Amino acid sequence: MSKSGKLQSIRGIHDGLPDEVRRWRHVEAAARKVFARHVFDEVRLPVLESTELFVRSIGEATDIVSKEMYCFVDQGEDHICLRPEGTAGAVRAYLQAGLTRAGAQRWFYIGPMFRRERPQKGRLRQFQQIGVEWFGVAGPVEDVEMLVMAHDFLVEIGLEGLSIEINSLGCSVCRPPYRDKLVAFLEARADSLCDTCRERIAKNPMRVLDCKVESCQAQLTDAPEMVAHLCGDCAAHFGGVKSGLEALKVPYRINPRIVRGLDYYNRTAFEIVTDRLGAQGTVLAGGRYDGLVEELGGPATPAVGFAAGLERLALLLPEVPAAKPDVAVVALGDAVLDRSLELAGQLRRDGIRVVHCGGGGAKRQFKVADREAARFTLVIGEDEMTAGQVTLKRMDTGEQWTVPLAEAAAMVGHGEAA
Ligand SMILES: [Zn+2]
Ligand SMILES: [Zn+2]
Repeated sequence: MSKSGKLQSIRGIHDGLPDEVRRWRHVEAAARKVFARHVFDEVRLPVLESTELFVRSIGEATDIVSKEMYCFVDQGEDHICLRPEGTAGAVRAYLQAGLTRAGAQRWFYIGPMFRRERPQKGRLRQFQQIGVEWFGVAGPVEDVEMLVMAHDFLVEIGLEGLSIEINSLGCSVCRPPYRDKLVAFLEARADSLCDTCRERIAKNPMRVLDCKVESCQAQLTDAPEMVAHLCGDCAAHFGGVKSGLEALKVPYRINPRIVRGLDYYNRTAFEIVTDRLGAQGTVLAGGRYDGLVEELGGPATPAVGFAAGLERLALLLPEVPAAKPDVAVVALGDAVLDRSLELAGQLRRDGIRVVHCGGGGAKRQFKVADREAARFTLVIGEDEMTAGQVTLKRMDTGEQWTVPLAEAAAMVGHGEAA
């Protein structure tokens, strides 16, 4: 509760009111349409998971787990969290259902995630993510297909100014020697790096590469890049991704600054950015996580996925206008009220969008009809009822006709309501 005593939503947690939800639905519809063409199935996974799942998958040392998760101990003394992301739960479900021998699984999900981030930065503490996971495929063909699906999805939404950025994070063979080289490079410049970067040199040197501080980036122009230190297998894999994108004439750029914080991420990492958001341009991020299924107790299983924030995508859309009613029904007199309700029902069964103006005084009802901005007003009085007819008025031209209902329906009729 706020100081004034009025009930308020929790800070950083927003309501989805109709204007916003229409945009969300536009994004969701695009996702469902494009993912269906690639034969991905929807899963609906729990919002609550055991705390241990995220400690084991995302890692205790990360900001997400150490600072940002909403965790609690429930009445049965179980340690539970609101999920901060979707992949860990998807892997848990995949293993729990025993699907590791069932062939490749293609999943997507849409749902809320929770992170206690600082709301002053405009971050939402409850946000929606659209995520995709493809288990049991080693690529590089599937990496290309994943990128194409992600890009098609954003194009389907209507986003412009998109570009694909890819990188390779190597593997357990080529990453450790590369990491040593990077650490040596960073240590020589430690004095010029920010506090966060200095801390990361030992713990997570690759994360230094994507530091957003300008003075750090200035130090990193000559930093060794993973893509130049790939082992033979990783180089061949990355080559396969690049040639696949080239064959499809999908433009991309190699961005050696795309990194992930955790060891189970390997090889292909990608982001799709737009120039319509200013500096914070990433709208979708993904890549390969061949080590995670094993990390969570399953057999070694390669996997690739991506995720995008729904609210962030919706922000880039123009307003999606509310659909107006086709017909507002006005009943002149109590004697025709039942008949007017029946007519409204018949029209709706024909797929026409109908509001009933509530009966009562004619003046009030016409006011309601005006406010609803229906394309037509359908008026029924006692004379019309006796004659088995209705009066249909087209609101933009003022034309009107007294005709049987079926005829009126046909005149309104443009088939299904949107
Ligand atoms: Zn490698
Ligand atoms: Zn830094």
